[in-house]
Amino acid sequence: MSYQLTIAHLYPEQMNIYGDRGNIITLRQRCAWRGIETTVLPVGPGSAVDWTTVDLAFFGGGQDSGQSLIAADFVERQAAGLRRAAEDGMVLLAICGGYQLLGHYFLTHAGEKLPGIGLLDVHTLGGTERLIGNIVIEASWGVDRQRLVGFENHSGGTYLGGGVQPLGRVLTGHGNNGKDGTEGAVWRNVVGCYMHGSLLPKNPHFADHLLTLALQRRYGPTATLAPLEDALELQAHTAMVERLT
Ligand code: GLN
Repeated sequence: MSYQLTIAHLYPEQMNIYGDRGNIITLRQRCAWRGIETTVLPVGPGSAVDWTTVDLAFFGGGQDSGQSLIAADFVERQAAGLRRAAEDGMVLLAICGGYQLLGHYFLTHAGEKLPGIGLLDVHTLGGTERLIGNIVIEASWGVDRQRLVGFENHSGGTYLGGGVQPLGRVLTGHGNNGKDGTEGAVWRNVVGCYMHGSLLPKNPHFADHLLTLALQRRYGPTATLAPLEDALELQAHTAMVERLT
C-alpha cells in the first residue's frame, strides 16, 4: 500500500527561527526514505485552507514581532478549521512562538496582548529574563526513547491549565516557565513545546511518533512505518543527552 501525507506549514515566512524549518525537512525525508509521498502546504497570511485534507501541521517559532504580524490572521482565518481537524485527531507540532499562539494568549514583555486560538489550555506571560540554552526532557507522551533534546530561547513563560498534559519533565534547562519543571503541552495529537534544535532531526524517534499518528489517522491502526537505519542520528541524540544530563 502506498501512503501519502499532506503537511501544512503555518506562516513559514514569519515564523521560522533557529532552523525550525528543519522539522519539515526531517518529516519529508523520513517519509521519502520509506516511499511515502508528502505534499507541503504553506499557510501564509490570508490563506484559505481545507483542514480536512491536512494530516500533520507544523508551526515554528518567531520573534514577538513576527507573532504580532500573524496572530490576528491565525485566529480569524485558521482557528475554527484547525480546531475541528485537531478534534478529529490531526497531528500538530508547534514550537515556541507557535506554541504560545496555540494557547489562550501571549502577553508580551512590551505589554501587547497577542490573541491565541485557545486550542491548548495554556497562557504565556512575557518576562524580563530570557530562558535560553540546551534543554533535555523526559517525555511522558508516547515515545519509546523517552528523552528529547533541543535548544530553547524565549522570554515568554507558559503556564498549563487543567485541559492539557505536559509533554514531559525538564532534566536540563528551563522548559515552560523555568519554575514548575514542566515542558510543553499535549492535547490529543496536538503538541506544543519550546524545543528548537531543530527538534525532529535531533530526535528521530519523536519524528516517527508524529508520522505514525498521522498515518494511522488516515489509513487505520495497521499502518506502520518501516524501520530506518538511524545509527548516526541516534548517536548524535545520545551524545547530546549524555553531555547535558
Ligand atoms: N517571542 C517569543 C518569546 O520570546 C517566542 C520566541 C521563540 O519562538 N523562540 O517568548
